[in-house]
Amino acid sequence: MGAPGSGKGTQAQRLVKHFDIPQISTGDILRKHLSEGTPLGLRAKEIMAAGGYVDDATMLAIIRERLSQPDARRGFILDGFPRTVTQADGLNKLLAELGTPLDAVVFFEVDNEELMKRLSGRRVCELCKRVFNIHSAPPSVPPECVPGRHEHQVVQRPDDTEDVVRERLRKYEEDTRRPVSGFYSYTGLVRTVDADGDMAQITQRLLDTLNAGRGQPRVAALAAKQRAAKRRVASKAKPAARARKVVRKKVARKAVKASPKRRPAARKRAVVRKLARKARPTRRASKRR
Ligand code: AMP
Repeated sequence: MGAPGSGKGTQAQRLVKHFDIPQISTGDILRKHLSEGTPLGLRAKEIMAAGGYVDDATMLAIIRERLSQPDARRGFILDGFPRTVTQADGLNKLLAELGTPLDAVVFFEVDNEELMKRLSGRRVCELCKRVFNIHSAPPSVPPECVPGRHEHQVVQRPDDTEDVVRERLRKYEEDTRRPVSGFYSYTGLVRTVDADGDMAQITQRLLDTLNAGRGQPRVAALAAKQRAAKRRVASKAKPAARARKVVRKKVARKAVKASPKRRPAARKRAVVRKLARKARPTRRASKRR
């Protein structure tokens, strides 16, 4: 998790090499749809250009499909997902289904001024997909692009322009960082990484924090707690429904008491008591004797 420009994509690429598991970037998946002109790509185009979010149902469907692929079986790095509480909740359910709990939820922290600088200088190679920065990490010299190509073909993403970046930063803070960090706050999985500084240094911080967090409680185990908390909130919000539930419980208890079939032992005891009373001599009779 991280604001646009926080370097989460770049660091995810480095983790791919380290752990040999795929990076699943929802931004990259959407951009692929866009370049291929699929119906989803066409729908997402305007939303992405304005710095908005594609709807949760679509994003969850994308992730479900991607996580079902064989290369994700050994693990994966989610990059840019989940971005909302609905996505985080959907992801929990999906991972519980797949039996693949999360190991960590990492938040990259960088101040907004630095982010603006990073984004305005960001360039992406259309061929090899590497990310560069014209200020701090200019495109490498050949032959590092795809085989047969001697130069990178770098472009600026349309959503990296200043106005759009401002909107993306605002949206990240309000719709993602605050609510999603709240969602994961009591799972014990959240780590924060100071993402300001040298790229290798940040990777080291990231690896250190991931190693330090081994053995922490997992999201899947805590999903039930979250659902219970949600139910409590929902029932507080509906006093009438709660009252109906109490009445239903009382009626059910009475039914159990009244049901002769369900209390044979009690019935037997009552009959025995009655017979014993009848058999007992009255006080007057015993006096007479
Ligand atoms: P990114 O490359 O992660 O910055 O994503 C680029 C754009 O794709 C975002 O500004 C959103 O418009 C869209 N996008 C990527 N991931 C998501 C997501 N999880 N939910 C909604 N929209 C997303």
